[in-house]
Amino acid sequence: MTPQEILHNIFGYQHFRGDQEKIIQHVLADGDALVLMPTGGGKSLCYQIPALIRPGVAIVISPLIALMQDQVSALQQFGVRADCLNSSLTYERACQVSTQLRRGELDLLYVAPEKLMTTRFLEFLGTAKIALFAIDEAHCVSQWGHDFRPEYTGLSILQQRFPEIPRIALTATADGPTQRDIITHLGLHNAKTYIAGFNRPNIRYRVVQKQNARNQLLTFLSDEGHYGDAGIIYCLSKKEVDKTAVWFTKQGWQALPYHAGLDKSVRQQNQMRFLREEGLIVVATIAFGMGIDKPNVRFVAHLDLPKSLEAYYQETGRAGRDGLPANAWMAYGLQDVVMLSKLLNKSEADEQHKRIDWHKLQSIWAYCEMTTCRRQALLAYFDDYLPEPCGNCDTCLEPVATWDGTEAAQKALSCVYRTGQRFGVNYLIDVLLGKKTDERVERRGHDRVSTFGIGKELSQGEWYSVFRQLIAKGFLTVDIEGYGSLQLNENSRPLLRGEERVDLRKDILKSQKKPEKSYGRSSRQSFVGNDKILMETLRAKRMELALAQDVVPYRIFHDSTLEDMILQHPRTLNEFARLSGVGGIKLEHYGQIFIDVLDAHALQYGETVPKKATNSVPTPENIDFSDTVETTLQAFNQGQSLEQIAEQRQLKSSTIYGHLSEAIERGHLELHQVIKITDAELHNIEEELLNRPQEEQHTLKSVFDIFEGMYDYNILRCIRANLWRQVKEVPTQYKTN
Ligand code: ADP
Ligand code: ZN
Repeated sequence: MTPQEILHNIFGYQHFRGDQEKIIQHVLADGDALVLMPTGGGKSLCYQIPALIRPGVAIVISPLIALMQDQVSALQQFGVRADCLNSSLTYERACQVSTQLRRGELDLLYVAPEKLMTTRFLEFLGTAKIALFAIDEAHCVSQWGHDFRPEYTGLSILQQRFPEIPRIALTATADGPTQRDIITHLGLHNAKTYIAGFNRPNIRYRVVQKQNARNQLLTFLSDEGHYGDAGIIYCLSKKEVDKTAVWFTKQGWQALPYHAGLDKSVRQQNQMRFLREEGLIVVATIAFGMGIDKPNVRFVAHLDLPKSLEAYYQETGRAGRDGLPANAWMAYGLQDVVMLSKLLNKSEADEQHKRIDWHKLQSIWAYCEMTTCRRQALLAYFDDYLPEPCGNCDTCLEPVATWDGTEAAQKALSCVYRTGQRFGVNYLIDVLLGKKTDERVERRGHDRVSTFGIGKELSQGEWYSVFRQLIAKGFLTVDIEGYGSLQLNENSRPLLRGEERVDLRKDILKSQKKPEKSYGRSSRQSFVGNDKILMETLRAKRMELALAQDVVPYRIFHDSTLEDMILQHPRTLNEFARLSGVGGIKLEHYGQIFIDVLDAHALQYGETVPKKATNSVPTPENIDFSDTVETTLQAFNQGQSLEQIAEQRQLKSSTIYGHLSEAIERGHLELHQVIKITDAELHNIEEELLNRPQEEQHTLKSVFDIFEGMYDYNILRCIRANLWRQVKEVPTQYKTN
C-alpha cells in the first residue's frame, strides 16, 4: 500500500497534514529526520506509516511506560500489529511479545529506553530486521529541555550500532539549544529537520487578574459550558492541588488530585481514570501531563503562574489535541511575581542558570501583561511568526484599555527610594495612600517622607496593578534576600527622570461590568435537545465498547467523529466510511453498531426517518419528500419563519434547515429564500466546495474549517444543496469528470 492508501484505509483520514507526507517519504527513502511539531500535530503517523511499509519491525522509544499500553491499544484498534516491552509487563506477557517479535509478527514495538539498552535486547536487535527507530519525546535527551531523562543519553548507541537504519526523533517543544542537543546526542547530523509552526489555532488563550482565583475559574468554566468536560487545572504547590480538588468536588464538579506527594498507586489510578472516563478534571502540579495524549481535554487552567513560557505552552498544549475549540485560562497576580522571584533567589542553581531562569520569568510576566495579541507574542517567543492578530485570544476579543502610567510609576519608584528599598508592596502602598496602619510607618518616620500620601488618586487595588506591571516590565526588582522587598534597578532611573514613559494596562476587575458583546463559546460544538440526547447515547455506546475491550473510549472514536455522525447522519456503511476517523477496521468493527444507534434515535425522536439503503440508491428525484419535510415546506411557504417552525414543531433549527436544504436541492425553494448571503460570499464558498472531492463535500467540515467557522453548518448545507442542484441541471453531455 502507498502512504496515502494506508492513511485512508487504515487510519480513516483523507489528507495528510502539514509535512506528514514529506517526512514519511523521507524516512521511506532511508533518511533520518528530526520532527518538531506541536502537540496534536500528528507526529505519530510520521513513523507509524513508514513502519507499516518498510520491511521489519519499527522500534519506538518512549519514556512513558504508563502510557505505552495505551498507545499500543490505539494502534491495535486500527488493526495494526503493535505491542510493547517494558518493566511493567508480567513475565508471561513479556515472553509472548518476545516470541511474536522473533517470528516477525509485529510491525511496531514500543520500548522504554532502559529496556532497549539491555544487552539481551541489543543482541536481539542485531539479529532482527528493523524497519526504523523512532525516538519519541526526543527533548528528554537534553539537559536544557524541561524534562531531562538520563536514560535517553544512552541512545547514541543506535547510530553507532545501526548506522544504516533510519532514525526519526520527534518532539513538541525544543528551543534552539535543545534542538542542537538532540542532534548531537542522537547523532542526527545528517538528519533533515522538519519544523511545523507552533500555532494551535483552536486554543483560546486568556489571562485574568487574580482575585479569588478558584471562584474566577469556576465562573469561567460555567460560563463556557465546560461542566462535564475533561480538563486540567495546574497549581504550584501540592497543598493547593489538594485544596483545589476538594473545593471543586464540593462545587459538584468531578475533580481528582495529582502530585508527587501522593502514593504512586493513587497517582496512577487518577491518571487512568482521567484517560478512561469522560468529563473528569485533574488538579495537578506540573508533575502531571507529560505524554497525556487524551485528545478531548477541553480546558487547561493555571491558578498559579508557570515558571516559563515553554512550560505554559506545553501545559496549555494538552488542551484540544483533537483540533476542536479549547480554552487555556490563567489567573495571574502580584503574589505570583513575588513568589516566583523569591523561589528563584533561593534556588541553588549557579549564576548562569539563574540568569536564564530570570529571563524566562520576565518573558512570562511580559506575556501576562500584553495589551496586544497573545498568540503573536507566544509564537514570537518560539521564533514563529503570525502576521495578523489571531482573533482568538482575550486581548484580540476584548481589546485592553491602556493609560499613561508614567506619573504613577514615578510616584511608586520614588516611594521605593524614599523608604530605603527595604519594603514590600503592601507597605509601599500604605505609604502612598498616607495610611499608618502598619506601626512601622511612624516608627521609621515614613509618615514624614515626601511620598507619604501622594498617591490618593488611585485605590489600593490600582496601586497593586501599578507595582505588578512595573516589576513585570523590569522597572523594579524583587529583593535578593528573599523578603519580597522592592528595589530600584538600572531601568528605574530614566523613568524617574521623565526620560521614558510607560503605558499600563487597565485591569478588568470583577466588579466592573462584563463586556456586553458576547463572543460565543469557545468550546466544542454544543448540541441541544434531541441531538444532545443523541450525543449522550453515542458516548454511552462508545463507553460500552471501550469497557468491553479495556481501552480508553476515544480509542474507539474521537468526539469529533461522534459529532460528525450527528451532523452527517450516515445511513449506510458507505456513508459511514466517509466520516473522518473511520478507517477500514473501525468501519468493520463499529460501523453498523453506530448506524443502528443513529437509526434507533431517529425513529424514537421523530427526525427524518432514514431510508435504509436498498439495492437502488434513492436519489432525491425518485423519492417523495418525507412527511416531516413536507410539513416544514408547507409552513415555510405560508410565510412562517424558520425559528417559528422550529418552535412550533419542537424541532431543532438545524433539523428545519435540513428540511429546507432538501427542498433547495430539489428545486422547490430558492437559496435566497432561506439564507441571506452576498453573491461574493456565495461565490467563495461554492468555489471551496467545488475544489473538494465529492466525498469530502459530504462532511462539510473542511469547508467549515477553511472559513474558520464564519459560516455555520446550516448555511453551508443550504449552499451545498443549491450547488448540487445546479450540477444536476447541467445536461449530461456537458459534465466533465
Ligand atoms: P502528536 O503526537 O503530534 O501530539 P498525534 O500523532 O497523537 O499528535 O495526533 C493527534 C491527533 O490527530 C490524533 O488523534 C490523530 O489520529 C490525528 N491525526 C493525525 N494525522 C491526521 C491526519 N492527517 N488527518 C486527520 N487526523 C489526523
Ligand atoms: Zn490574539
